[in-house]
Amino acid sequence: SLPVVAIIGRPNVGKSTLFNRLVGKKLALVDDTPGVTRDRREGDATLIGIDFRVIDTAGYEDEDAASLPGRMRQQTEAAVAQADVALFLVDARAGIVPLDEEIARWLRGSTTPIVLVANKAEGKAGNDGILESLALGFGDPVELSAEHGEGLVELFDALLPFI
Ligand code: GDP
Ligand code: MG
Repeated sequence: SLPVVAIIGRPNVGKSTLFNRLVGKKLALVDDTPGVTRDRREGDATLIGIDFRVIDTAGYEDEDAASLPGRMRQQTEAAVAQADVALFLVDARAGIVPLDEEIARWLRGSTTPIVLVANKAEGKAGNDGILESLALGFGDPVELSAEHGEGLVELFDALLPFI
């Protein structure tokens, strides 16, 4: 069976945009409203000739504020446990927020390899999140623009040891 790659991170970092780019079809709903994707999606992806299965985690929009972290944690941990490698997305433009730090704490006990990805890293200005993300403890981030398709070779290089 295909290796499994999970895409995780807080709402609005670009998980579904990356999923769509990797799968090549509009299987995941992308919206400007944070966290709009309803369900977890899976699809078959190809990146530079390597095939894998990819999981897009999401679906918190009907949650009240109090139950959201618990649901997110459940979904994130389930996807990571099932994956050969997880892509932990943060927003290079928005920078690191407390929810990113919380997710990083959830991941610390995991045996699944984690690849940190600073998405929305196109262009040169306003990418404070790249530097800030070093403090999450997952090494140098892969600098990616899921929307513009930049950094895919670097993403491939980071994934290759695990898929
Ligand atoms: P998710 O909630 O993590 O699944 O995030 P989405 O994929 O739905 O994206 C949230 C918003 O970020 C949408 O408006 C996307 O168009 C935008 N977005 C996603 N990737 C990028 C990127 O590489 N650069 C920029 N500037 N915006 C992006
Ligand atoms: Mg989404």
